[in-house]
Amino acid sequence: MHKCPRQEHGNWSPDEEFEVVCPGCGRSMEFFKDEEKRRCRNCGQILTNPILQDAG
Ligand SMILES: [Zn+2]
Repeated sequence: MHKCPRQEHGNWSPDEEFEVVCPGCGRSMEFFKDEEKRRCRNCGQILTNPILQDAG
Protein backbone atom coordinates (compact mmCIF):
# COMPACT_ATOMS: atom_id res chain seq x y z
CA MET A 1 0.00 0.00 0.00
CA HIS A 2 1.30 3.37 -0.94
CA LYS A 3 0.95 6.18 1.52
CA CYS A 4 2.55 9.56 1.42
CA PRO A 5 3.85 10.74 4.79
CA ARG A 6 3.20 14.33 3.85
CA GLN A 7 -0.41 15.16 3.37
CA GLU A 8 -0.07 18.88 2.91
CA HIS A 9 -2.60 20.34 0.58
CA GLY A 10 -3.16 23.65 -1.11
CA ASN A 11 0.40 24.76 -1.63
CA TRP A 12 1.80 22.77 -4.50
CA SER A 13 4.24 23.87 -7.11
CA PRO A 14 3.37 23.46 -10.81
CA ASP A 15 6.65 21.63 -11.24
CA GLU A 16 5.63 18.88 -8.93
CA GLU A 17 2.80 16.49 -8.45
CA PHE A 18 -0.60 17.38 -7.19
CA GLU A 19 -3.76 15.67 -6.22
CA VAL A 20 -6.82 15.10 -8.35
CA VAL A 21 -10.05 13.73 -6.99
CA CYS A 22 -11.48 10.94 -9.06
CA PRO A 23 -15.01 11.80 -10.21
CA GLY A 24 -15.85 8.14 -10.28
CA CYS A 25 -15.09 7.13 -6.73
CA GLY A 26 -14.06 10.35 -4.98
CA ARG A 27 -10.62 9.06 -4.18
CA SER A 28 -7.69 11.45 -4.52
CA MET A 29 -4.69 10.43 -6.55
CA GLU A 30 -1.35 11.96 -7.38
CA PHE A 31 -0.84 13.58 -10.75
CA PHE A 32 2.35 14.88 -12.25
CA LYS A 33 2.07 18.23 -13.98
CA ASP A 34 3.28 16.82 -17.29
CA GLU A 35 1.28 13.66 -17.08
CA GLU A 36 -1.59 13.71 -19.54
CA LYS A 37 -3.83 11.14 -18.02
CA ARG A 38 -3.90 8.57 -15.32
CA ARG A 39 -6.04 5.66 -14.47
CA CYS A 40 -7.65 5.46 -11.09
CA ARG A 41 -6.34 2.47 -9.25
CA ASN A 42 -9.52 2.24 -7.27
CA CYS A 43 -12.24 2.27 -9.93
CA GLY A 44 -10.27 2.22 -13.20
CA GLN A 45 -11.60 5.50 -14.49
CA ILE A 46 -9.31 7.54 -16.74
CA LEU A 47 -8.58 10.98 -15.35
CA THR A 48 -7.26 13.76 -17.51
CA ASN A 49 -4.82 16.30 -16.18
CA PRO A 50 -6.73 19.53 -15.49
CA ILE A 51 -3.69 21.74 -15.99
CA LEU A 52 -2.98 20.22 -19.39
CA GLN A 53 -6.51 20.36 -20.73
CA ASP A 54 -6.05 23.94 -21.80
CA ALA A 55 -2.90 23.28 -23.78
CA GLY A 56 -3.12 22.33 -27.40
ZN1 LIG B 1 -11.77 6.26 -9.06
